[in-house]
Formats: sequence, C-alpha cells, structure tokens
Amino acid sequence: MIPFNKPYLTGNETKYIEEAVQSGKISGNGIFTKKCQDFFEAKYGFKKALLATSCTDALEMCAILANIGIDDEVIVPSYTFVSSALAFVRQGAKIVFVDSQRNNPNIDTSILEELITPKTKAIVVVHYAGVACDMDEIMELANKHNLYVIEDAAQAIDSFYISKTGEKKALGSIGHLAAFSFHETKNIISGEGGMLVVNDENLISRAEIIWEKGTNRASFFRGEVNKYGWVDTGSSFLPSEIISAFLWAQLENLEKIQTKRKLIWETYHKHLSEKTNPNFSLPELPDYATNNAHMFYLVFNSLESRTAVISKLKEHNILSVFHYLSLHKSEFYHDKHDGRILNNSDRFTDCLLRLPLYYELEPEQVQLITSLI
Ligand SMILES: *Cc1c(COP(=O)(O)O)cnc(C)c1O
Repeated sequence: MIPFNKPYLTGNETKYIEEAVQSGKISGNGIFTKKCQDFFEAKYGFKKALLATSCTDALEMCAILANIGIDDEVIVPSYTFVSSALAFVRQGAKIVFVDSQRNNPNIDTSILEELITPKTKAIVVVHYAGVACDMDEIMELANKHNLYVIEDAAQAIDSFYISKTGEKKALGSIGHLAAFSFHETKNIISGEGGMLVVNDENLISRAEIIWEKGTNRASFFRGEVNKYGWVDTGSSFLPSEIISAFLWAQLENLEKIQTKRKLIWETYHKHLSEKTNPNFSLPELPDYATNNAHMFYLVFNSLESRTAVISKLKEHNILSVFHYLSLHKSEFYHDKHDGRILNNSDRFTDCLLRLPLYYELEPEQVQLITSLI
C-alpha cells in the first residue's frame, strides 16, 4: 500500500527525548525549546520564535496579540483549515471570507481592499502548499488601512517570497505575526506541535506573557524582574521539552528532508507534464514564490474526474485525498457568512487532489502513480 502520508523519523528523536528526561527538566522553555527557537530566528530572520503546542494554539496567540474582540472583522480565505478562522472566532470576531485566485488556492489580493471596513482588524493569509501569497501587495494594503497581517504558515517552513525589490524573505518573517505547524502531516514534525513568530517588536514581550499563562515568568527567569505573577491574559501554550527534543532531531535534518521532498515533487511534475491531459492542470508557482515541496496537488476540471482518479488509485492501494471544504459553507459558519459567492474556493473544494508525498516515497512509486493517473 502507498499511504498518503507517512511520518518520517530521523533516528535521533528518542535519543534527544532521553537526554531531556535525563536532564531532569522536562517541562517547557528548557534547553531544547531554546535550541529550536534560536535555530528558527537565525536561519529565517524571525524576530522572535516561541514554540507552541500546535499551529492552532499559535493562531490563538495571534488573535489575542492583535487584540481581536467582539464584532471586529478578520479577513480569512475560505479555502483553508478550520483553525485559520476558528482562532479569531473564539475571540468573538466576525470572519469575512475571501476567495482564492483562479489558478492557485492562495487569496486573490485584487478583491481584498473592497472587503475592508472600519471594523476590519486583521488579514490572515495562508501560504497554501508552502507557496507564498503576494506579500508586497498585502503588506501595502495592511499598512494603508492600519491592519495586522497574520501569516498562517502552517505548511510554509523553509519557503520564501521574492519581493519587488528582489529581496528573498522567509515566509513567516513578513507579517506582524505568523504561525507554523509541526503536525505529523507537515514537512518537519513533532506529532502535534507549532510555533508562533512575532516580527512586530512591540508585541514580543506580551507574546512571552501570553505563552506562559499570563505571567511574566520568562522575564523573571532572565533576571529582569525579581518576582513573577499574573499580569495579563494567556494560556499554557508552550510545549514540554519532550516535544521540543523530538523537534530538534528533525531540525538537524532539515536540509536532508527538504532535498528529498523536492526530488519527489520534481519527479511528479516531470512525469505529469510529459504529455498534457485535458482533465487536470498542474500546480502553478508565481514568480515571487519558491517551492518547499510541502504538497503535490492536481486541479481537475470536474468533481467526477477527480473522483474517478481517487477510485483508480485506490484499486491499486494508493491513497490520494482531496483537501479543504469551503469554510463559508461549513455547518458552523454558513449562516453567519454574508452570502457572497466564492467560486474559486468552491472549485478547489471539488476539484483539488493531493497525491502521496513523504520522505520514504520512492521514485518508482511516483512513476507508478503518475502512469495510473
Ligand atoms: C495543518 C494546518 C493548520 C493546523 O495545524 P495544527 O498544528 O494541527 O494546529 C492550520 N492551518 C493550516 C493552513 C494547516 O495546513
């Protein structure tokens, strides 16, 4: 059988967990947490990285930091995971869903400005499949209207945006805030896990407080205050050292993992672009985006042709899967949606198919999958 995903272990995960256990310090914000956070800040230019228990939790921290409250409006793509919207709904916000581009699930920036009202507080952008949204456009619009930009970079580790001036910026380093995921379906994993990135320096000290149950514990341990106590809202957002130790083993192998994933992605692309097939199109990368090989997907011209391919692959014990269901039509939110029709989001809901992509997938298996398609 070829599964859709298979978590990859580098071999050092249990060794580092054992080290964490032996060290006697297994709660959060210890040696492995710091190693991981320093790695991210140094490699990708994030102002402040804080490991979290999931990307969902990191997004909740974003919602608190952006002071989202009752009746504030937050612009979110409809074609995304529930958490991109849920974190803001929990703060009482109204979600204004925005459609995807025609040829790419990322948000259509050309229709963004007309959705902004005096109540709009933030724009959440999702770098689908690790492919950058048009961040120059988005940041310009956000600055003009004084909005926070929150990058849902759950799928976007080690991927970049090339700005108009030619500068190469890591995804997650551009918005005021960003959230990453280390869920076992992502490129770099810790089972469940995530990270908050704070690029707006004004938000860093509050982020540390929210991270540690609303206390100033982090600055206490740095010796900046002589006692710590309850100073703000927050929760227990930080992961234990056991999770961070696992993550560190993955990060040490980031280049190796990325190289292999990109090879698999290129193999899919090469085989499937050999002859054009009128039933589907291949992913299109804008000039301003790099590819981190998070996902290989096809967009079919109908739900029927997608269903036929899923069944065909299943006959050969190969699991391919569709992805999000438009959030503006979800059971939870459809009656709160303002009624706008979001055609592209609905089309990706019906027609996008994800193919198996994981470290141990072999080129021959990719070839089998592409020939069946
Ligand atoms: C995976 C994912 C999430 C959720 O990540 P968790 O770590 O499971 O909370 C959120 N947004 C997007 C776009 C994702 O792909």
